Amino acid sequence: MSHLIPKTFPRGGGDIPHHKSATDKKPIVVLPAPEIAVIPLQQHIGAPCEPVVAVGDKVKMGQLLGQSKQFISAPVHSSVSGEVLAIEERRLANGKQALCVVIKNDFRDEPVSGAKHTDVQKLSPNAIREAVKEAGIVGMGGAGFPTHVKLNPPKPVDTILINAAECEPYLTCDHRLMVERAEQMVQGLLAIMKATGAAKGIVGIEANKPDAVEKVQEAMAAYDQLSVAVLQVRYPQGAEKQLIKAILNREVPSGGLPHDVGCVVSNVHTAIAVYEALSAGKSSYERVVTVSGGAVVDPRNLLVRVGTPIEQLFAFCGGFLGEPEVIVCGGPMTGWQIQDLSGPVVKNMSGVLALTKEEAGFDENLPCIRCERCVHACPMGLTPNLLGEYSDKGLYREAEWIHLRDCIECSLCSYVCPAKRALVTWIKKGKAGLAAEKAKEKVS
Ligand code: SF4
Ligand code: SF4
Repeated sequence: MSHLIPKTFPRGGGDIPHHKSATDKKPIVVLPAPEIAVIPLQQHIGAPCEPVVAVGDKVKMGQLLGQSKQFISAPVHSSVSGEVLAIEERRLANGKQALCVVIKNDFRDEPVSGAKHTDVQKLSPNAIREAVKEAGIVGMGGAGFPTHVKLNPPKPVDTILINAAECEPYLTCDHRLMVERAEQMVQGLLAIMKATGAAKGIVGIEANKPDAVEKVQEAMAAYDQLSVAVLQVRYPQGAEKQLIKAILNREVPSGGLPHDVGCVVSNVHTAIAVYEALSAGKSSYERVVTVSGGAVVDPRNLLVRVGTPIEQLFAFCGGFLGEPEVIVCGGPMTGWQIQDLSGPVVKNMSGVLALTKEEAGFDENLPCIRCERCVHACPMGLTPNLLGEYSDKGLYREAEWIHLRDCIECSLCSYVCPAKRALVTWIKKGKAGLAAEKAKEKVS
């Protein structure tokens, strides 16, 4: 473990309960594959995929199911071997309908043969980018942005950061992956560096994961160009801009992206997926999901096939202790409420949480007492009280003048507000309202 003082970002932020002890010491367990896999044709930011299979086709595990000709998109693959029963609209966990390929599992797990490379580091940058694209890898920390696009930065980059802060409460999937598969993450990081031309790789880990720090440092001992940055435990340490500021002391400009300050940020699970795609020809069809929350009998980290119904994950963890107050996808600060438990797991689903009434917390929307706690907590230096008020009243232009679009939706303002005002809900509404107004202006 590094003896250096943990790094952090300079503005705002705060301590929030971690709730990680229910799963952070438990090894990852494999969840049995589903009888029926429902695989959405869009699991990423960008153009949806068109199906390339038909009803009645026999498919293998890892076989291509859908792809798009657009650059910003990611192909979708089968997580089981079996028969295509339907290609139809299905309800997802967020309650929305989406085109899915429905496959009856034959439980043979017959794999397609992918290109395998014994020495990943001998691959050319272009071969790495192509393999990552073909494997359908997207940001597995939650963003779902196609990884091959990130590997083609429009500006020179000198550093790759692996975001291993995992600062959201409850989530421990990246923590466990670092403890159990640090070597694979390091090989994936080296491949990402080669593809982007970056000379340095840094893994940013919060100080509350000393076992992960140790494993990652061991795995990178032979590489001078790699290092671990131990980060202070402070929310939202894992937000991209805060991570870059903490580790590199570089400020991403308003409306800018990491490549504007010479870096690319990836994620623990994504780096492992890159390694698997290159070394074993494996496409992105399974992931580790944290199943936790006070309403779960036996919280765990599970290795899950994409397309598995979420209810199967909770059932495997012993079901619920009474009726959960709310079920959330991702972390409780930046996640969203699950509407339908029969909806499938997708590539960027890091956790599913069943929370009790005490854990869930509620917006009460009492009058603002002008205490400015939200202002002091905001890591972006914004005025959340005003942003929330303007957005709620439909004053989108006024909200824009005070930097509405710089809000990273970390929810810390709502969390610290003694009046329990729904600040971040209003801010999200404000962003959507502003975008709609601007789109209207463009048309007219
Ligand atoms: S949600 Fe937005 S406004 Fe609120 S603290 Fe986070 S960045 Fe600031
Ligand atoms: S924390 Fe809540 S009560 Fe205090 S200023 Fe902000 S919105 Fe108002």
